[in-house]
Amino acid sequence: MIPYLGYWRLTVLSTLPRRSTTWYSYTTPKSTHMELIESDNRWSRPLVLLLAVVLIAVILRSPQRAVTAPPQSLAQGEQPAGLQGQFQVQAAPAASSSAGQSLLLAGRRPVVTAGDLVIYTSSGSYSEEQARALAAPLREALDYVSNRTELQLSAPVSILFDRRATCGLDGAAYTQQRVIILYACADLPLRRAVNIVAHELVHQLAHDHYGAAHLQADLIMSEGFATWGAGKYWLGSEPDFRSFVQHNYASALLPLNSDYRKLGTIDAMNRLYYQWASLADFLIATHGRSAFDQLYRSGQGMAPNSADYSGVLGADLGQIEQQWQAWLGQTQ
Ligand SMILES: [Zn+2]
Repeated sequence: MIPYLGYWRLTVLSTLPRRSTTWYSYTTPKSTHMELIESDNRWSRPLVLLLAVVLIAVILRSPQRAVTAPPQSLAQGEQPAGLQGQFQVQAAPAASSSAGQSLLLAGRRPVVTAGDLVIYTSSGSYSEEQARALAAPLREALDYVSNRTELQLSAPVSILFDRRATCGLDGAAYTQQRVIILYACADLPLRRAVNIVAHELVHQLAHDHYGAAHLQADLIMSEGFATWGAGKYWLGSEPDFRSFVQHNYASALLPLNSDYRKLGTIDAMNRLYYQWASLADFLIATHGRSAFDQLYRSGQGMAPNSADYSGVLGADLGQIEQQWQAWLGQTQ
């Protein structure tokens, strides 16, 4: 068994300063220094070139490069905004207290209950008034993703608004404990919180539907399904994920079995989440939901391409990828 404990985390970095700001503030004094040493040292030119190469290499390797946001996803106004996110898996905290309450919620009292959603908030995150204002849109989001995925929660789920030192946006679904945590500062627009929770709720629905198999699901399936299931909350002005990928990523698709944690950029993660969501759409449309469910359950660990594509679909992931690319290129 891999040390995996059912923890889905989404880090949203679009609100962080762009990397280019750091670049300019860092290179300006370096440029000045370069001119000074060049005048009296014959080794200065190669040294300066070496320094520049090292500096560029460091910047290119950084996981916090400037985010290339899909234009539609950041649209303001009435359309829901899409997301920038980062998936990470970490060990979950101990499961629950003797009273059956998740330790993640120990000592906390809910602010409001809305159907199957029990909402909590912490000091420094949304106020209780904001949390109450989120009750209706979150319940609406749950209804929407339930209808879209044709899945139901097996029991209530708790949503905790919390915060960290930075005001980056993290969402985490502890599906075994039925707790979703969103780290957010109070000035984060409420609709962005709803967008992220919609994605996390699909992870909980998947857990309730697929059971233990969910904890071994291929990342392509689990993140593709969660993103696809969040539908309008991630699509901005696009009608569906095929259109989204066609219009934003078609000229630079990443291989479907890429692991964005190794690619190390937010942009790569964005592309893969949306590509995988459109793959989920393709698989359900062309092979049917029952084959999709079978494939989801066939994962043998979370690594991309760990599901049994050949056994379930009669074609390996490479062949499926070709079919998916042809489907992407079709006029709708
Ligand atoms: Zn996710």
